[in-house]
Amino acid sequence: MPDLKAIVQNARKAGTAIPAFNIPYLPMLEPVVKAVVDLNSFALVETARLEWIKFEAGGPEQIAGEFFRWQKPEHVRLHLDHIPVIDEDGQRVDFLSIIQRAIGLGYHSVMIDGSRLSLDENIAATRQVAAMAHLSGIPCEAELGAVLGHEAGPLPPYDELFDSGMGFTRVDEARRFVDETGCDWLSVAIGNVHGAVSSGLKDRKKIAARLNLEHVEKLSRAAGVPLVLHGGSGIPREYVLASFKKGITKINIGTEIRQAYEVALQTSGRVSAAQDAVYERTCWLLDDYFGLKNTQPLLI
Ligand SMILES: [Zn+2]
Repeated sequence: MPDLKAIVQNARKAGTAIPAFNIPYLPMLEPVVKAVVDLNSFALVETARLEWIKFEAGGPEQIAGEFFRWQKPEHVRLHLDHIPVIDEDGQRVDFLSIIQRAIGLGYHSVMIDGSRLSLDENIAATRQVAAMAHLSGIPCEAELGAVLGHEAGPLPPYDELFDSGMGFTRVDEARRFVDETGCDWLSVAIGNVHGAVSSGLKDRKKIAARLNLEHVEKLSRAAGVPLVLHGGSGIPREYVLASFKKGITKINIGTEIRQAYEVALQTSGRVSAAQDAVYERTCWLLDDYFGLKNTQPLLI
């Protein structure tokens, strides 16, 4: 069976993308895997540090335990999402030891997020993590540019942000960053924003973000590696599908399935009903929204 790096390269060549579903609550993992298998798709399940701290994912061990219980390697692999060098609350994080722990647990790929650092510091941290991942034979994702939204407090007005290209990944920097770090996948800022996670804002409906598709194309050419779209929930479908043709090869989905789980749990009081809601929403995303049903045979 091909390794994950090869599978993602296959997706890039096919002009399609691999969704990566965030798991902030452990019971969400099983229905996500089931939906991916039932629709004959290929996806990642992933966990970010803030999902252990602000939600109930437990930690990388708990997520790995749940993943290896339900895993279907021909359809799903396990990714370590956002391990920040400086977190959304401005705290320094011992990123190397967390990532090393995850590699030891059998994660199939990892992400280092140095996007709150200067370019040089981001390059230095990413280079270290990429080397560590490659020693274990797994790919490393990194982030360049500012995908806003995880910080406490409201975002600046979205149209202003989009029109000015504020925080967008720069083309010249993308080329240098990939060359100097050896990262395998690059998370870019192209108009996308994360769903809010701070307690006052996390239940709000996400704003409908747009994507600057011309900019994606330029970044893809400059970086020469698969690009990753974070904050994939709530972006109008036509932008998302078009971005797959222009170099976006992995798309992270967090808010959309998290809110399905939380709402169903609140209204029913039953975890099984919340799991059903996650299954339904994941099927809908894969099939109706992203058109990724039956894409597994293209990739493996
Ligand atoms: Zn993200």
